[in-house]
Amino acid sequence: MKICILGAGVVGLTTAYMLAREGHEVQVLDAEPGAGLGTSYANGAQLSYSYVAPFAAPGVVSKVPGWLMDRDGPMRLRPDFTWNQIRWLYRFWRACNATQSDATTAALLRLAFHSRALVHEMVSREGLDFDFSHAGKLVVYSDTAGFEGAKRQVAMQAALGSEQQALSPAECLAREPALAHIAHRISGGIWTPGEDAGDCHQFCAGLTTLLRGSNFNVAFHFGTRVTQLLTAGGRVVGAATAQGVFEADAFVMCLGNGARQLASPIGVDLPIYPLKGYSYTVPVTGAAPSVSITDSKAKVVYARLGNRLRIAGMADVVGNDRRFDNRRLDTLLRQAKEAFPEAADWTELNPWTGLRPATPTGLPIIGRSRPWPNLVLNQGQGSLGFTLGMGSAALVADVLAGRAMGIAAGEFAP
Ligand SMILES: Cc1cc2nc3c(=O)[nH]c(=O)nc-3n(C[C@H](O)[C@H](O)[C@H](O)COP(=O)(O)OP(=O)(O)OC[C@H]3O[C@@H](n4cnc5c(N)ncnc54)[C@H](O)[C@@H]3O)c2cc1C
Repeated sequence: MKICILGAGVVGLTTAYMLAREGHEVQVLDAEPGAGLGTSYANGAQLSYSYVAPFAAPGVVSKVPGWLMDRDGPMRLRPDFTWNQIRWLYRFWRACNATQSDATTAALLRLAFHSRALVHEMVSREGLDFDFSHAGKLVVYSDTAGFEGAKRQVAMQAALGSEQQALSPAECLAREPALAHIAHRISGGIWTPGEDAGDCHQFCAGLTTLLRGSNFNVAFHFGTRVTQLLTAGGRVVGAATAQGVFEADAFVMCLGNGARQLASPIGVDLPIYPLKGYSYTVPVTGAAPSVSITDSKAKVVYARLGNRLRIAGMADVVGNDRRFDNRRLDTLLRQAKEAFPEAADWTELNPWTGLRPATPTGLPIIGRSRPWPNLVLNQGQGSLGFTLGMGSAALVADVLAGRAMGIAAGEFAP
């Protein structure tokens, strides 16, 4: 089959890989000059298969006013009075209950474990170099209530296949000695040995090089912005660009935050909103963590990428705005320096901002669109696109092959 993939972020590239492996003729279009230059560029670097619980959870709504009053809190909201923002926030609020949150967690764990198996298979098969590590992840808590809640989540997830362990403050420090500077405020931690980390942009670039090789039938068209999807006879027949119309038997939409703009004119409504986050990538010069760390108080994640440390955080509901907010960047830097003062050369910061393509529930949207059966959606992975990329791509390959999906995945249907 001739398949056109729209978008060369981590979701589009993993999709290209899974489809090319099945012998399809694949072309990938992206507006940017290279692969993984959108949200996939400098994300938190965590392949975080057991940390998939959605942002929309019971108790979140009551915390939001406090976060919003605190200009340095982990979340910010700037009302833009667009229909998309109002509707997204309403649906998010509706999803903040235990029934929806537990169902989403269970579905995402299935997808994440599917992804993990495929990531590990791919790493050993293709030998991509993306500073991949299998060092595990430690989430540290600074309040007893938060730690007790995390232990309840561990018990719930154990029944679904997660292997996690609650650690005392001393055990946290033994696991990661670089935590010494915040040891005084650690009330406990959750250790997950099966978590990975890696550089998402390097992963995208490596995958592009691999797919350009003679073993795969993939053509890349960078600098090619899709301006319109052309339809006829109940099907999508072309992707219009300034470079001409790209035709195919099937189209897979992996456009991150660019999806709504192309989908709504053909009647496909995608409840996706950009959640803005920030990161720094600093050269390691001293005592930096070697396992992935989440500081739950600040909601900041740290991942070791060879001789670099990636620091990421913040979730700002401020629309499609990729400008740096210096106050947010300063807050993230202060939090990182407080946690790991000796870790890095704090003059070489490489700040970055990206927009997570988030659905209100946290469930991605994967499957054939309605009313266009040859337009397959692979959208809305939100804060987990790197983690869920391979699994999501495998589901798309199942859909296009007309076979049963590798996991039960009804929750992701468009
Ligand atoms: C601060 C931060 C930290 C994060 N940390 C993690 C983490 O630790 N682990 C994790 O799993 N995930 C993390 N994420 C989320 C993850 O980065 C995203 O889910 C993922 O990158 C989304 O991939 P994507 O391919 O859907 O989107 P993108 O990477 O944005 O790719 C979409 C592509 O579509 C292209 N495009 C858009 N419109 C058009 C058009 N009209 N024509 C042609 N091309 C177009 C864009 O140029 C872009 O390249 C984080 C995100 C942020 C912001």
